[in-house]
Amino acid sequence: MHSTPQTPTLWTIAALLKWTTEFFQSKGIESAKREAELLLAHVLKCKRIELIARFQDQPTEAERAQFRELIQRRVAGWPVAYLIGSREFYLLSFDVDPRVLIPRPDTETLVLEALNRLKPLTAPDVLDVGTGSGCIAISIAHQKNDARVMATDISPDALAVAQQNAIKHHVAERITFRQGDLFAPLAPESRFDLIVSNPPYIAHAEFAALAPEVRDHEPRLALDGGPDGLAFYRRIAHDVGPFLKPGGSLLLEVGYTQEAAVRALLAAEPELEVGPTLKDMGGHPRVVTARKKPPPERT
Ligand code: GLN
Repeated sequence: MHSTPQTPTLWTIAALLKWTTEFFQSKGIESAKREAELLLAHVLKCKRIELIARFQDQPTEAERAQFRELIQRRVAGWPVAYLIGSREFYLLSFDVDPRVLIPRPDTETLVLEALNRLKPLTAPDVLDVGTGSGCIAISIAHQKNDARVMATDISPDALAVAQQNAIKHHVAERITFRQGDLFAPLAPESRFDLIVSNPPYIAHAEFAALAPEVRDHEPRLALDGGPDGLAFYRRIAHDVGPFLKPGGSLLLEVGYTQEAAVRALLAAEPELEVGPTLKDMGGHPRVVTARKKPPPERT
């Protein structure tokens, strides 16, 4: 058992961070130090690393009251990204709130591979299915500045956040957002060089074991992959073919136990050729890849 950390006499930034880190640790919060710093930097309207230079400063009573309030909400289960309203992902900071899933570092694997595949192409057409906060589509548009990006989501609320992020990062003119279920909002003749998706993939039986921060606060719509977690992969595998140009790529983020099942779903489609699976930074299989086969040569 941890005890409540000791109360110092002077509430300097250093003392506030030390106390809060220990308090978070006593509550079983994993990245206790990082989260304490993010919350205090948010209250003091500075960057996290700027706190170090200000270690001996004493925040005002009002700032400390606001910090205490955030600490209480964090301990009650709120994800820190929703409390501060943003999350770093790949090279940018995205606005987030409970209307969207919080971007995960695992998804950076997908962005890196997307950019690798787009590099040799001129003015490629890219589709992000189920864009959520827009973190994938916007990172791609930001790094590949001749890409023409389309992003869909069934949730109008999520699209509002994605649009706001696109404006924030000056790529709104190059991303078209469309509301609808998977490919439904696309014109039937749309063709893409690259299609990416991080669809909901949590199986119903897995919800009970999710971290409460995720289960109780992030949008169920962005997590629920149907009874076995594979519902969206089935639909994407079945529907994606016509929307890919010959030789075009499909990159799908998967839960790390789902690689074999998703590869099998894609392999069952005659138009597709399954490629290598990519690992995330933790070494887990994370991105399943496929290409649309070129048309058969006439003999
Ligand atoms: N990676 C997320 C999680 O484990 C799930 C994201 C998703 O369903 N696409 O919480």
